[in-house]
Amino acid sequence: MIEFQNVSKTYPNGTKGLKDINVTINPGEFVVIVGLSGAGKSTFLRSINRLHEVTEGEIFVGGTSITKANGKQLRRMRRDIGMIFQQFNLVKRTTVINNVLSGRVGYHSTFRTMLGIYPKADTELALQSLERVNLVEKAYTRSDQLSGGQQQRVSIARTLAQEAKVILADEPVASLDPLTTTQVMDDLKKINQELGITTIVNLHFIDIARQYATRIIGLNAGEIVFDGPVEEATDQK
Ligand code: ADP
Ligand code: ADP
Repeated sequence: MIEFQNVSKTYPNGTKGLKDINVTINPGEFVVIVGLSGAGKSTFLRSINRLHEVTEGEIFVGGTSITKANGKQLRRMRRDIGMIFQQFNLVKRTTVINNVLSGRVGYHSTFRTMLGIYPKADTELALQSLERVNLVEKAYTRSDQLSGGQQQRVSIARTLAQEAKVILADEPVASLDPLTTTQVMDDLKKINQELGITTIVNLHFIDIARQYATRIIGLNAGEIVFDGPVEEATDQK
């Protein structure tokens, strides 16, 4: 489903973010990427939806090269890829449901979405998505009145309203306390199991990775230094 073929990323200043990565992630996997700060986790994740352009090699998503996709193809492919950020990336001054509905943007004309006009079916889907993360009662609350953990669960609901087939989560719990970390990771795991959404999560901490992943990929200095089932993962970070 997601395949890296000889992928390298050299930033304009010469820093090597990724070095000759070859890896395949299958549909429905829950993969955690671990590694120290600067190991290349974020570069790896953001290469998949081309928030970063790789400088060598090719990445395939669902059998199609995203590396070679043109503008229109890229927009179509990005619909299938939901992204979750450390700082939630919600529009703070609007309601929770408007944030979840923004997952639908790629499905409609810019004109409609600029005016915030969504079909009724989208609103229903947004409410269902909020139900999955147990936040439907917050649908009409302003986003910035929610706790950090709740905001992150709204961003998970946004990827569900997007009908993403893949979720990329870049340090989704790095700014959360242990309790809300568990809630967010539990939601990601539940969605992976119930909906079969392929999930790739970057984490600093191997102990959280061990609790949730079915597969751990360890990165160090832009290279894969470990790739295997959780049981085999050692204490290296
Ligand atoms: P991680 O997510 O594991 O902390 P990153 O993927 O952010 O690692 O970074 C990998 C390497 O690439 C680091 O050496 C980092 O400093 C460098 N890097 C990341 N983004 C850029 C950039 N835009 N320009 C130059 N170097 C970068
Ligand atoms: P991409 O082409 O993959 O989208 P860029 O290489 O254009 O990303 O990154 C934009 C700029 O951000 C870089 O040229 C660099 O100046 C700056 N930058 C961001 N993160 C880092 C980092 N960790 N180290 C050095 N520069 C960085």
